[in-house]
Amino acid sequence: MSFLAAALLGLFVAACGNKGYQTVEVAQFKEAIKNPSIVLVDVRTPQEFAQGHIDNALNIDFKNEQFTQNFKGAVPQESKVAVYCRSGKRSAAAAEKLEALGYDVLNLDGGIIAWNEFKHKRDYVIVIHGGAGNIASVEKDSVKAATYYAALDSALMIGSQALENGSKGPQAVMAVINYLENNPLFNAGKGATITDEGTFELDACIMEGKDLSAGAVAGVKTIKNPINAAYAVKTQSEHVLLAGEGADAFAKAQGLEIVDNSYFVSPKTMKWVAELSKKSKKNGTVGCVILDTDGNLTAGTSTGGRFRKQWGRIGDAPIVGAGTYADNNSCAVSCTGHGEYYIRHAVAFNLSARYKYLGESLEEAAKYIIHTELNSEAGNGGLVSVDKDGNIAMEFNSTGMYRGFLYKNEGTTGVVSKVGIGETLK
Ligand code: ASP
Repeated sequence: MSFLAAALLGLFVAACGNKGYQTVEVAQFKEAIKNPSIVLVDVRTPQEFAQGHIDNALNIDFKNEQFTQNFKGAVPQESKVAVYCRSGKRSAAAAEKLEALGYDVLNLDGGIIAWNEFKHKRDYVIVIHGGAGNIASVEKDSVKAATYYAALDSALMIGSQALENGSKGPQAVMAVINYLENNPLFNAGKGATITDEGTFELDACIMEGKDLSAGAVAGVKTIKNPINAAYAVKTQSEHVLLAGEGADAFAKAQGLEIVDNSYFVSPKTMKWVAELSKKSKKNGTVGCVILDTDGNLTAGTSTGGRFRKQWGRIGDAPIVGAGTYADNNSCAVSCTGHGEYYIRHAVAFNLSARYKYLGESLEEAAKYIIHTELNSEAGNGGLVSVDKDGNIAMEFNSTGMYRGFLYKNEGTTGVVSKVGIGETLK
């Protein structure tokens, strides 16, 4: 044992009982936890918990009393423990609680810096959504839920395969979104929702964080996969956003697959049409954000828009900074929800700005925007995001959001993946 470790351990032992826990810097902490008799505890929020574990630490979900209960069950009384987590405040609260229970506690009060030292580095991360809404009941219908879980899993696997085969973020985002656009379960491409005239008008956007390049199409009627047209606008034109007939004509000239507007009809659409008078609210959108193996961020969103929207209406999805945004200095974001509010609150850019300029964690920034700035009355919906370090946010203020994530930790071969509809992730 090095002199520093021995000295620290001495301090540590001296700190037990009534003297209060020790708070140390990252370097000291790293030395101290080499001692195998110290239990390393990673204090997590339920959301972080669902996103994976730190392998060599005891991962404890921090929910006040539950934290101490879980802890007492897992760690013998009188043990020496070292705690750390993403927020310095939370690790201090945990240290205090454990100290009160009689444990010898070493606290790493480094907040986000410490977290970054200890968490896994991720080779790549994919986060998707298939729309938010009051859909929690879908979870209870096991057959219906299984169909959505399977579709979300497939979308994630398509993204993972693309990245494993050497594709970069934009190609992988398009592969994932093409699958979701072609799947009538979701409100994008085939299966899109309808205008009050009974036609289909689609919006999509793709943005790259490495150079803030973006392309989008709005109100298009004949492009089978609008996300591909958005990418063509980004790479083959001088523009960012093309709308209506001009966008359709551009896509055709680019050789993209063109279909009749009736292609987008699905059995679901017919059901909606039958329910038109019932003021049913069938919305949704699909989105995908990726941190790729080069460390670049990409965001993509594709949608049929709001159910019974007036023809000509354009939502947040194709508006850079409203429904879609990516910046390598912060995060990639794709939104779903009541687009008018998402445009007014510049939700996607707002998230990136809170992260970048206020120094909030991705989770803090996403929670603030979705639950405080927007809420289920003004701006029902959600967002998915991944930051430049591979942290994930999947926040919503509706009862559910079809969503999922998949990531691969550096130095491993397997992937970690979860999907969800309501609160629970599977
Ligand atoms: N955000 C989309 C729009 O307003 C719809 C949705 O995601 O539900 O066009």
